[in-house]
Amino acid sequence: MPSAPSPVLSVVVPMFNEQEVLPLLVGRLRPVLDGLGEPYELVAVDDGSSDQTPVLLQAHRRSWPQLRIIRLRANAGHQAAISAGLARALGQWIITLDADLQDPPEVIPEMLAAARQEQADVVYGVRADRSTDSSFKRWTAHGYYALMRAMGATGAPDNAGDYRLMSRATVDAVNALPEDHRVLRLVVPALGFPSTSVSYARERRAAGSSKYPLARMVRLTLDSVTGFSSAPLKLATWFGLSGFLVALALLGYALVAKANGHTVAGWTSTVVIVAAFGAVQLLCLGIMGEYVGRTYAALQRRPTYYVAHDSARDSDRDCVQQPQSPPSGERSPERDPHRT
Ligand code: UDP
Ligand code: MG
Repeated sequence: MPSAPSPVLSVVVPMFNEQEVLPLLVGRLRPVLDGLGEPYELVAVDDGSSDQTPVLLQAHRRSWPQLRIIRLRANAGHQAAISAGLARALGQWIITLDADLQDPPEVIPEMLAAARQEQADVVYGVRADRSTDSSFKRWTAHGYYALMRAMGATGAPDNAGDYRLMSRATVDAVNALPEDHRVLRLVVPALGFPSTSVSYARERRAAGSSKYPLARMVRLTLDSVTGFSSAPLKLATWFGLSGFLVALALLGYALVAKANGHTVAGWTSTVVIVAAFGAVQLLCLGIMGEYVGRTYAALQRRPTYYVAHDSARDSDRDCVQQPQSPPSGERSPERDPHRT
């Protein structure tokens, strides 16, 4: 069998229990990709779904040879699932896109054209209109971007999520980064490669429910902050300095009180001071703990995901070229005895 041409474009889509939205995604994404007139692959990263997502993917693959399925052994999370797709995508250009159709696939040709015309390595998809997001989501997103700006994470436009196009050089650079818990919306701008953006109106999730509960949003924020800046560690120094000034003032107050003979009263102020300093110390310990934990995890070098199965490596592979060796940095058992 003659080998298929290497894809010009890879579209990486992480999916976790997306059985409701998958048929809608295929219905909208496939005409856009077929209409490009260039070889492409759709890299569906099934992030350990427990619903019908893997079955539906296999069914679609029968009539859509460009659909490549990478199944992770266990749920690894949104960012890790994207990383798994990036490590294996073969295209000269790579787009990452969520499965829920909040970010319209119809923008893909515009992204590709912008990258080529402006010779940009990265094209950010920017949500010009988030009116379909809930006010809670908008509020938390606003807080997140403000915090990231305060931490000095600049480079990406505000409201650029994980819908972006990257050149092969960009993806190679991301894959080579040693950090495991990467937050892609921060590490890609940090590379500083030439970039541009296209804007679009954000849509409502087409079906199913959000896979990002509050706890995961908090985790993403902590990973973003600790992965990007050590500024919080310096907070302890500032707290310590302010505490020292307060202690000096209290010393003056205590000496004056002693001189005037008012030394018995003061239970309330004592309790408040002890509680306040205790809280500040715990906060500083917590901040340090986050960094120590991150350093510890980095030392352990545990993979953030395990690939169970990649349809591009099947013997009946038909649309993409097989990589010569496993992607660098991947330490995962290749074959899943339970694969479908
Ligand atoms: N996702 C994933 N693994 C997870 C959680 C989410 O692959 O553990 C995928 C999900 O299927 C979707 C994308 O990440 O394609 C973004 O999730 P979602 O749309 O639920 O997040 P939200 O838009 O609500 O922040
Ligand atoms: Mg979404």
